[in-house]
Amino acid sequence: MQTKHLILPALAVGLGALLLVPAQDAGAFTLLGGSLSQSQRDFRVFNNFTDSTANDNTTPDPSFPGYQGAVVAIWKASVEWGSELHGDGSGDPHQPNGLGSGGANFDASFQGLATSEGTTNSNVHSELSGSSGGVLAFTETPISDGWRIKYYSGWTWDDGPDTNIGSRIDIQGVACHEYGHALGLDHSTATGATMQPAISGSGVTQRSISSDDIAGVQAVYGVKAGNKPRITGVTVVGNQITITGANFASTSNQVWFTQGSSGGTGTPIKVTNLTSTNGGTQLVCNVPSTAGPGDVLVRNDGTANDDLSNAWPTDLQPSGPTCLSPSNYCVSSPNSVGSGAVIDSVGLPSVAANDFTLACYGVPPNQFGIFFYGGSQVSSAFGDGILCVASGGLGVYRFSPKQADAFGDVSMPVNWGAAPVASGSGQWASGTQWFVQFWYRDPAAGGSGFNLSDALDMTICP
Ligand SMILES: [Zn+2]
Repeated sequence: MQTKHLILPALAVGLGALLLVPAQDAGAFTLLGGSLSQSQRDFRVFNNFTDSTANDNTTPDPSFPGYQGAVVAIWKASVEWGSELHGDGSGDPHQPNGLGSGGANFDASFQGLATSEGTTNSNVHSELSGSSGGVLAFTETPISDGWRIKYYSGWTWDDGPDTNIGSRIDIQGVACHEYGHALGLDHSTATGATMQPAISGSGVTQRSISSDDIAGVQAVYGVKAGNKPRITGVTVVGNQITITGANFASTSNQVWFTQGSSGGTGTPIKVTNLTSTNGGTQLVCNVPSTAGPGDVLVRNDGTANDDLSNAWPTDLQPSGPTCLSPSNYCVSSPNSVGSGAVIDSVGLPSVAANDFTLACYGVPPNQFGIFFYGGSQVSSAFGDGILCVASGGLGVYRFSPKQADAFGDVSMPVNWGAAPVASGSGQWASGTQWFVQFWYRDPAAGGSGFNLSDALDMTICP
């Protein structure tokens, strides 16, 4: 096991800590030897930092959902080494060009909170009581089997994201340096490198890895491959997540989620054996009940460095705007009890949510009727009313008859697992558009004996 320190330079010479730097050509990264296997890309935080300033950033950040304080600072430090911008790259005022600068076949999976400092290969960050001269923090690095990072409590730590933190030490900057050790880099003599053995000031500038650090991580894991899977967006509707991107395998994909509860082993929550669609640009699966807010990653069908995607933040909360409520169109015609029946719905037309109800009001009490749907709109006289739904080449489909109650109301939860919506050419598949209307008996009107509501225009969501 090797232990690598980050120190304050004022104390460095006295400690001889600069002796940790091997003799090298000027201005270049060096390597510890070895790399983190794909099974060791997780990191967790045992948040036992004692300074109030280490956990006083309580502003929610959508790029780092569900967490605050030191945990977010360390999360930011880790994603800076990632192959791509982390989501839209936002989160650090010191890095206006974004977090995620590595450009290598290396990405890490945030796995939330640990409940202890763990062992030397538990991949956990934590504070260590005490001090050791000028040493700020250190990394224990078995490398291929994992690592552990500790921050001495003797310093006053700050979680940012402010850059003007006075004499306090920046958790994010120091974490970025230490995580560089964890992934296999030794100290660099390059000016401005995050992996320089000592910092001056607060350490804020260490948050952003330099060209030398980038060359280092690329030397260990390879320059980001052209066929490396890549996430460019995530949407959640109901319990279903849709991941869009590029280079997903045709079969045997995995989606890695952040664990939802504290503790665990750091092993990501995984959904496996997924088949991609749309030419390897889309994956759809249900969100596991044990997953929580954090990052998602996609693993292709292998275990090489270039089989794991970038990390994409998501709070796993359904995103409303992508699933719209149906809208009414056409007209309802007067019937025997009033101005006409009006169609309505409750819930969203989401396959995954499976919580959508069709309704109709203003129907003659206790009369029977049928909800039916088709692929296009029309407007033509029919019975005592107006027909608003036509086939549109997709057919017209009807549900089982429903009886209005004594108030003239009809309500019908849609069973997504049954005919006519479950399968066939009338299937309510994600992305399909349908037009729905209610056709009901009305003998008391003295006309044709039946009438129609107005209609709904709706697009089915994932
Ligand atoms: Zn170091």
